[in-house]
Amino acid sequence: MKPASQFQKLLLQLDYLNSSQKQEVEKAYELADLAHKNVMRESGDPYITHPLAVAQTLAHLKLDAETIIAGLLHDVVEDTDIALEKISKDFSPDVARLVDGVTKLEKIRIKRSSNFLPDFFARKKEERFSFEQHVDSLRKMLLATVNDMRVILIKLADRLHNMQTLGEARPDKRGRKAQETLEIYAPIAHRLGIGEFKGQLEDLSFPFVYPNEYKNLQDLVGDKLKQHETYVENLISTMKNYLIEQGVEISDIHGRAKHMYSLFLKLRRYNNDLSKIYDLIAIRIIVPTVSDCYQALGLIHGKWNPLIGRIKDYISLPKPNGYQSLHTTIFGPEGEIVEVQIRTKEMHEHAERGVAAHWHYKQKGKNNEANKSAVKLIEDLSQLSEKIKDPDEFKSSLNLDFLKDRIFVFTPGGDIIDLPAEATIIDFAYAIHSDIGNGATGAKINGKIAPLHTELSNGDIVEISTSHRSTPRRDWLKFVKTARARNHIKSRLGLN
Ligand code: MN
Repeated sequence: MKPASQFQKLLLQLDYLNSSQKQEVEKAYELADLAHKNVMRESGDPYITHPLAVAQTLAHLKLDAETIIAGLLHDVVEDTDIALEKISKDFSPDVARLVDGVTKLEKIRIKRSSNFLPDFFARKKEERFSFEQHVDSLRKMLLATVNDMRVILIKLADRLHNMQTLGEARPDKRGRKAQETLEIYAPIAHRLGIGEFKGQLEDLSFPFVYPNEYKNLQDLVGDKLKQHETYVENLISTMKNYLIEQGVEISDIHGRAKHMYSLFLKLRRYNNDLSKIYDLIAIRIIVPTVSDCYQALGLIHGKWNPLIGRIKDYISLPKPNGYQSLHTTIFGPEGEIVEVQIRTKEMHEHAERGVAAHWHYKQKGKNNEANKSAVKLIEDLSQLSEKIKDPDEFKSSLNLDFLKDRIFVFTPGGDIIDLPAEATIIDFAYAIHSDIGNGATGAKINGKIAPLHTELSNGDIVEISTSHRSTPRRDWLKFVKTARARNHIKSRLGLN
């Protein structure tokens, strides 16, 4: 699509903004268009199509004018010579802060253990961050983000578009980007309750991270999905007529196919037995009020037998991320088993948009349950930022629940190394480079000398001393946790 017509589409989406806000958006588009002039994406499209796509996603979430403007400008400070001061002056300090937040998030690089870090020791000592400075800059970044969740939303929209166009990216980049998306961004979207982002991010990453499993799943599910679709469509129309007949007002009823990646995870838990998956396509019913939800549930159970133990009341007991809905699983015609989800429009919006729904409702001045849980979530995160006044507490608060199987450890240069929980200093050294692993003689954790078998924890800053005359010790094999470290040690010692 031509940028100009893509922008017209964006304007149409922004019908919830007033005309002076729309003028500001147009001004931002013109600035971004000029700044990225003659720059192309790897696909060959003009660069501006990317910030436009990001703004469109944010508009779809019905976010405010500042977020849309910051979305259009999110890459100009990083990639062009437009300064933050100009954005602050031309738009507002808040817009500048949002752009700055996204630019800073860009600089936090997650290094996979397989990545080479060539300039680790090439850096001059004074260029390396000291521990305090490093913690401080991270703290600032986290605080900035926590104070303004919109930064994360822009970053997620950015990642979503990069994933949508990943097929056009350099092949060597794809795997790492997809993995990062699956392990970092999708869980963040989930934690923020943005189901729409989570599902898309996972499904876009899936074929790149697990190509064979993805293909097998397609083969396994393909035909079944088609048959099931027709069946569910028929059941939907019967159910709809029945509920209306019984006096329930239905705002919407539709079938909803399970996302591929979450199906993949579920099938693994059920030994790939597809007949155990009842929500391959779930029926979703949207009704006006909470009492309509329970009424619809009762009526459905009266007509179609429910499966024992499968009735879940997430309205009375919402999920930790604020998700609300009634779930039940019923025997449909011919004994086929189907999951039904019943919720109000507000609950639905919250399930799809999570914290993003918060701004939406704030503008409308509504005070409903979905809004309250969004507010609660933001409060939880703000408390987290309160707690991080001292470095030790900060480290433990970095250990958010969505990162529980991984730890993130820093090099003195500020790069993040992503390792499995319980990884040791030696795993860290090999994750940076095999020469650093092989030559490791000693280490400091957060400035203090520590033995090489020490297990690392989230947020540790680790400095390795090496000697090119040194070789790995056989007893390292007793405590290392990563295959990478194990293989390098064995091969260096000639044990293969
Ligand atoms: Mn971008």
